[in-house]
Amino acid sequence: MSRLYERVALITGGNSGIGRATALRFALEGALVMIAARDRIKADETIDEIRSNGGDARFIMCDVRSPDDCARAVQATIDMFGELDILFNNAGQVPYGSILETDTGTWLDVFAVNVHGTFFMSRAALPHMIVRRKGVIINNASDWGVVGAQNAAAYAATKGAVVQLTRSMALDYARQGIRVNAICPGDTYVERWRTNARGALMSDAEFAHYLAELGADFPMGRVGSADEIARAVVFLASDDSSYMIGQLLVVDGGNTAGGVSTRYR
Ligand code: NDP
Repeated sequence: MSRLYERVALITGGNSGIGRATALRFALEGALVMIAARDRIKADETIDEIRSNGGDARFIMCDVRSPDDCARAVQATIDMFGELDILFNNAGQVPYGSILETDTGTWLDVFAVNVHGTFFMSRAALPHMIVRRKGVIINNASDWGVVGAQNAAAYAATKGAVVQLTRSMALDYARQGIRVNAICPGDTYVERWRTNARGALMSDAEFAHYLAELGADFPMGRVGSADEIARAVVFLASDDSSYMIGQLLVVDGGNTAGGVSTRYR
């Protein structure tokens, strides 16, 4: 269980949801983890849990929409842990709506986080990886980057862009020892989902009922957990995937095999 022993990993949005689950998994596999995000309190909770399991993790304040913040996050990781082996571009925003329901600010912001953030962070990390002729970059796309989605036009467009960026980066840097792949999660329950359409937080019972109703329509009769995605990210980060570049690892419980991935939550 030490597939990432002493590897240094930088995870954007590592304080919540899939990023948090991945930070915990990476640490269990022996990685040293830097969490780059905006909410320090949530990050501290994740770091405390990693340390209580015997691992090590730190936090760097970073808004991935800022190229300077991204450069600082990469440098802080190297200053703290000596190198950078793994970058998980996970930070993302998930606005819903068709084109006519999407205002300009929402459109620009979701591209700024999901696409520009991936670009800024990768551009900051790559030179360090190239010098050492090794490194792994994993971009968090989505099954909605592979198939279209109703009522999520801007979001799906960003994830399509992340898919193509992944493939292009993989081809550009393969001979310099860098592996770039994407994880494409299907519907994965995270704390964010506890907020209902009216903006209120669901109780545990309400949330369990909601997940059961939602999951019933999916091929496996349930949606995924963040840890199920994290375990696939560990595979992409580790030498177990040493001959994989430019690939989309779809972890969606069968949605894109012909199921229901395009329905609006
Ligand atoms: P969460 O809301 O739990 O996580 C989103 C993360 O992104 C948070 O950690 C947040 O940190 C970070 N973030 C958002 N904006 C910024 C920013 N400007 N700068 C830095 N960090 C930022 O949701 P998920 O775990 O679901 O989402 C994580 C990724 O997984 C996203 O890319 C999403 O598109 C993808 N995904 C999720 C699916 C799902 O069903 N859950 C399905 C397919 C893909 P902070 O609040 O500190 O800024």
